[in-house]
Amino acid sequence: MKHISLEHPIFETLSTAATELNVRAFIIGGFVRDKLLGRPCKDIDVVVEGSGIEMAQRVAKMLGQTKQITIFKTYGTAMLKHEDLEIEFVGARKESYRLESRKPLVEDGTLQEDQERRDFTINALAISLNPFTDEIVDPFNGLNDLENGILRTPLHPDQTYSDDPLRMMRAIRFASQLGFEIEKSSLQSIQSNKQRISIVSMERITVELNKIVESPKPSVGFKLLFDTGLLHLIFPEMVALHGVEVIKGKAHKDNFYHTLQVLDNISVNTDNLWLRWAAILHDIAKPATKRFEPEHGWTFHGHEDKGARMVPQIFKRLKLPLNEKMKYVQKLVLLHLRPIVLSKEIVTDSAVRRLLFEAGDDIDDLMTLCQADITSKNEEKVKRYLSNFEVVKVKLKEIEESDKIRNWQPPVTGLDIMETFGLNPGKEVGIIKTAIREAILDGLIPNEFEGAYEFMLKEGAKLNLIPARILQASVSSQNSENI
Ligand code: ATP
Repeated sequence: MKHISLEHPIFETLSTAATELNVRAFIIGGFVRDKLLGRPCKDIDVVVEGSGIEMAQRVAKMLGQTKQITIFKTYGTAMLKHEDLEIEFVGARKESYRLESRKPLVEDGTLQEDQERRDFTINALAISLNPFTDEIVDPFNGLNDLENGILRTPLHPDQTYSDDPLRMMRAIRFASQLGFEIEKSSLQSIQSNKQRISIVSMERITVELNKIVESPKPSVGFKLLFDTGLLHLIFPEMVALHGVEVIKGKAHKDNFYHTLQVLDNISVNTDNLWLRWAAILHDIAKPATKRFEPEHGWTFHGHEDKGARMVPQIFKRLKLPLNEKMKYVQKLVLLHLRPIVLSKEIVTDSAVRRLLFEAGDDIDDLMTLCQADITSKNEEKVKRYLSNFEVVKVKLKEIEESDKIRNWQPPVTGLDIMETFGLNPGKEVGIIKTAIREAILDGLIPNEFEGAYEFMLKEGAKLNLIPARILQASVSSQNSENI
């Protein structure tokens, strides 16, 4: 039997509370698993053969922390925050499920019954607090599975997955997160039970999906989602990227596997969940924009623009946040081709200035995405792209330093334009403002007040506008002539 060392004084306190209450209590689940794997873990689950709430109250009192406890009466659970730990207390339960619902009938149970309703053998490991031992209670050989990197359900997989179909997502999440393998009959069971995912709320599914996206090599999880058929049910737009069409001997690349490659590439360089989502969605509109043009072969014109417009509906359905995170992903999808286009052409200052202006503070993330997007199998091509890419990076830095264009506002403002020509807010102000901005971005006039002001006067003249002060002067001189 494997042992585990629990140095933190909180474990003594938990043990004393269980002894005083004369109940059997155990640390169980993720904490034990992660401790054995050497992964950091700040959530401790305590299961009590009795009342979880009572035990939580006793522990809180012993620590003098009665205010840090949250009780969920309906679920019979309590949560205590202690230092940087979150300790959750729950009474041991046995559950039985009805086919049509995810809501189980819950009754008090023993530790063994509680372990049976856990999702995987590696998540059912427990350590006794009363008596306090360092031995692991492991009725389903979870320690073996942990050592061999296997995900196996404690009961028959059909029962475990059918009882709570979210466990199918969790199996794939753990496989991706820990690099574990889903045991064969379990994988088959996921395939045959996949339709039952429809009774699980999208919010719960997305929690697991995001953990897949955040895992070290997310393609592992996405390939499993695809192979089991779950991806078809939860994220069909991504499945539509799959496949290769051939016309007149010309094939396009499989955009599903390309997307996964980009996602893995970017995951080496960033933990930012939303930048990873931008990688997932960068080519999402390729199926919708795909054309075969006899002279050019396969094209996907405008996929970046259409893709950006698809982002809100995908975020909405997946219950991802509809806030600035979504806007960030949208912006990166929209701009994802721009640095690569620049790297293929002779890089002009104005093109770089424009990119800096449109990307703003997200320019570095855009460059990270773009670099991850270079997945050609032709090594020469990759080398060429990457070296051109370095030229773009240098140019970006130079222009940023000289022009300070990131988060930039033109030196002549809308207010200056209104005051100069005595205008109210309206179309003409917008026309002049845009003309000034474009002229600076194109390098036609310098990024300074004087030059921009001169330019504004000329643009105003094109619209037959006369500066208010000249108008004023001419009116007063006419008046004095009339006297
Ligand atoms: P992580 O801490 O990485 O989010 P975790 O599974 O360890 O993953 P929780 O999701 O808080 O953390 O779950 C804690 C424990 O509760 C698990 O280890 C498992 O024993 C059990 N558990 C959680 N969800 C389920 C479920 N849907 N079905 C069965 N057991 C579950």
